[in-house]
Amino acid sequence: MIEIKTAAELEAMRAAGLVVARTLALIAEHAKPGVSTADLDQIAEQSIRDAGAVPSFKGYHGFPGSICASVNDQIVHGIPAPTQVLADGDLLSVDCGAILEGWHGDSAISLHVGAASAADHALSEATKAAMWAGIAAIQPDGRLTDISHAVQTEALAAGERDGVSYGIITEYGGHGIGRQMHMDPFLPNVGKPGKGPRLRVGMALAIEPMLTLGTAETEELDDGWTVLTADGSRAAHWEHSVAITDSGPWVLTAPEYS
Ligand code: MG
Ligand code: MG
Repeated sequence: MIEIKTAAELEAMRAAGLVVARTLALIAEHAKPGVSTADLDQIAEQSIRDAGAVPSFKGYHGFPGSICASVNDQIVHGIPAPTQVLADGDLLSVDCGAILEGWHGDSAISLHVGAASAADHALSEATKAAMWAGIAAIQPDGRLTDISHAVQTEALAAGERDGVSYGIITEYGGHGIGRQMHMDPFLPNVGKPGKGPRLRVGMALAIEPMLTLGTAETEELDDGWTVLTADGSRAAHWEHSVAITDSGPWVLTAPEYS
């Protein structure tokens, strides 16, 4: 069963999404050489709690942080640590979740610490473009894997443009979101279109491609969390929580523009 939200419930999810968006914007300002990922975690937790929300990651199956901070060859689920001090040229992916009034927001960005290499910049842009292609493929009465297919197609097209064969991580993917962070359905980042559950107004999904500069094979550190590329190549991760409305996708974790 996929949770269907009313318009008022989606408004409540947008409020949670904004807490996440503002927190990630704050993290982006502070992700500088010499700053540790534990410093960023503290900033994130404060930002979330100041908004009257709760960091959803903290304590999730025992996860110790309020953000996942994944550096360079770490793909996702990196544990913030005082010993993980950011250096010029690092590629940092930050995943953040918040619960406000019982509703979840979940979003991730990749950031360049100091100067970015051309390859890292292209990787992050390709991952972001794949996310947006997935979002653009959402339509009421469409099917779930329309999104998967759009993500994969854009990742491959970006690779063609950039002259790189990006690894597309398939062990992890998107998910339903609402009263819980991870809900049905699982959303693969690859696949043929036209399969899986039918998309309905009132559903909300997290769209989150992860691409690498090399392999799509992953390894997990013995901390039980950190997922890294098996070949040491760098990875990027972008994510938005998106609602399906009558007029199309509504990006619940998008920043506000004034
Ligand atoms: Mg996330
Ligand atoms: Mg997610």
